[in-house]
Amino acid sequence: MQRMKEMILQEGTVLPGGILKVGSFLNQQVNSEFMKEIGDEIATLFADDQVTKILTIESSGIALAAAAGISMHIPFVFAKKHRTSNVDGSTYTTTVHSFTHGTDYQVVVSRDYLMPTDRVLLVDDFLANGNALRGLVDLVNQSGAELVGAAVAIEKKFQGGGDELRAGGLRIESLAMIESMTDTEITFCD
Ligand code: 5GP
Repeated sequence: MQRMKEMILQEGTVLPGGILKVGSFLNQQVNSEFMKEIGDEIATLFADDQVTKILTIESSGIALAAAAGISMHIPFVFAKKHRTSNVDGSTYTTTVHSFTHGTDYQVVVSRDYLMPTDRVLLVDDFLANGNALRGLVDLVNQSGAELVGAAVAIEKKFQGGGDELRAGGLRIESLAMIESMTDTEITFCD
């Protein structure tokens, strides 16, 4: 998506540790008009896949998931970051290692919101090492729903998570794919 690349080049900054900051338009302040374009793009990419539900992780995937849900006329669900265990068995739970914080956290989603009859599209802001998407894949598998694929706004290809997940059979569409990043230069794959 050309405009995603332009926005990254215009407004993104590279922080130490290989983190791209896009808080001015994607995951803190959110450019609402741009979100609509992203939602439409994701809807077009998965138009033939009979998606019934979108799944993301709070909090930075929520704006994207909402935009895609509006464009596709389907609900979105966000897995919640949680510390307590699944005592009453009412949730699907998995553990995710956070790339940005370096810690593990639990994510949970209520069994009421992912059904075996659902066809699920995963959505997130970034794909780096792939742990966030792996956690979401695990939640979908626990529910018995059909996993259609994943859409991410920005894939940092040099971290390898996307390649690994694709090799495992997951369809992933990235709206911008970064080949390499330094303090002064961001290079895209195409
Ligand atoms: P992964 O689990 O694929 O290693 O990382 C994906 C998650 O980490 C995303 O949900 C995103 O919130 C966060 N993340 C990974 N890389 C970056 C980055 O460069 N910038 C920002 N802002 N978040 C990132």
